[in-house]
Amino acid sequence: MQVYADNAATTKTSQVAIQAMMPYFDTIYGNPSSLHSVGQEAKEALESARERVAKCLGCEPREIYFTSGGSEADNQAIISAARIGARKNKKHIISTAFEHHAVLHTLNKLEKEGFEVTLLDVKNGHNITAQQVADAIRPDTCLVTTMYANNEIGSILPIPEIGAVCKQAGIPFHTDAVQAVGHIAINVKEQNIDMLSLSGHKFHGPKGVGALYCRRGLALTNVIEGGAQERGKRAGTENIPAIMGLAAALEDACAHLGENAAKVTAMRDRLIEGLSKIPHCALNGDSVNRLPGNVSFCFEGIEGESLLLLLDMKGVCASSGSACTSGSLDPSHVLLAIGRVHDVAHGSLRLSLCEYNTDEEIDHILTVVPEVVAYLRSISPVWRDLQTGKREYIL
Ligand SMILES: *Cc1c(COP(=O)(O)O)cnc(C)c1O
Repeated sequence: MQVYADNAATTKTSQVAIQAMMPYFDTIYGNPSSLHSVGQEAKEALESARERVAKCLGCEPREIYFTSGGSEADNQAIISAARIGARKNKKHIISTAFEHHAVLHTLNKLEKEGFEVTLLDVKNGHNITAQQVADAIRPDTCLVTTMYANNEIGSILPIPEIGAVCKQAGIPFHTDAVQAVGHIAINVKEQNIDMLSLSGHKFHGPKGVGALYCRRGLALTNVIEGGAQERGKRAGTENIPAIMGLAAALEDACAHLGENAAKVTAMRDRLIEGLSKIPHCALNGDSVNRLPGNVSFCFEGIEGESLLLLLDMKGVCASSGSACTSGSLDPSHVLLAIGRVHDVAHGSLRLSLCEYNTDEEIDHILTVVPEVVAYLRSISPVWRDLQTGKREYIL
C-alpha cells in the first residue's frame, strides 16, 4: 500500500484542474496581450479565471494578481507594504516566529535595509492571539503579516480578530493563506484582510502558480519588472494553462469545502488519537484551532529523518516538518518556536491528509508508525539512556 500523507508539501493535481488546463496548451494558446483574436480568446479566459478566484475569496476581480506561487505573493505583499511605510517613515513590521521562510527571509532582507521586525511568540497554545498583535503595535508600524494557518503544525490563527485590530489601527494586514485557501472558508472583506497570498498546488491545482489579493487603494510595488501585465504590477506573459487550472481547482475546493473538511477532520482525529498512545510523544500545534488535514507529533529518542525513510519503505510518504528545511540538519524553526528543545524537535513527524486519503490508509499508518518508532527506539543510544535513567525524559 502506498499512502501519500504529505499534502502540506504539495497535492496531487486533480482531474478537474488537468481538464481545465488542457485546451490552453494547444487550442487557446495565444498571448493575452496580443490584439488579434487568438490572443483575445486567451485574455477572456484569464479574466474569467480572475473573476472566479475573486468570487471564492469575496473580493473584486481587479484585486487579484496572478503570480508564480505563494512565495512570490508573500514577497510582493511584504515589500509593497514596506515601501508604503518607508515613505511615511514607518519602518516597523509585526509578524510571528513560525511563519514560512518566504515571509521570514523577506523580513530579514528588510531588516538589513533598516526595518525593525517584531516576531510574536507562539509558545502559548502553539498559536498567537489578536491581543498579542494589539500589544505589539507602535506608531511606526507599517505592516502586520501573520499566516492564516501554519504549514508544519496546523495551528489556525485568529485571522478575523487580528484583521479587526489592524483595521482599527489603520495598519495594512497581510496573511500568508497558502495552507488555508481551499480548506477553510475565507472571505477577505468580512475577515478584514488587506492582502492575502495563495498557491495553486496546495489545493489540487498545478505548481508554479499563485495569486495575491491586494485591497483596492493599497499600491503594490513590482518585484518583477517588464511588461504591463497584471495591471502593471507583475510583468511576464501570464501562465494561462496554470491559471486556468488554479481557478478550476479553487472553485472545486470551495464548492466541496464543508464535506471535504468533515471527512479529512475525522481521519485526522483518528490518527491523533491513535498516535497519542505511543509513549513519550507530544502533539504539536493548536489542539482546537487546527487545519483539517494536519497531524504533527514529536517522539522522544528518535531521529525524524530515519523515521521518514523507514516509513517510506513501508509505503507511507510523510514529512518531518517543512519540505523546505528537509535536507538541512537544522531542526525546524517552527518546532523551536513553539518551545521544543533541539533533541525533541529532531524527532518530528508531520502527516498531512487530503480528501483522497481513505480509512484503510489511516489504518495502515496507525499500524506502521508505532512499529517504526518502537524499532528506532530499540536501536537508539539516546533511548537507552532515557530508559536506564542516565538522561531525563522531556516528553
Ligand atoms: C507552500 C507554502 C508557501 C510557498 O508556496 P509556493 O507556491 O510553493 O511558492 C508559502 N507559505 C506557506 C504557508 C506554504 O505552505
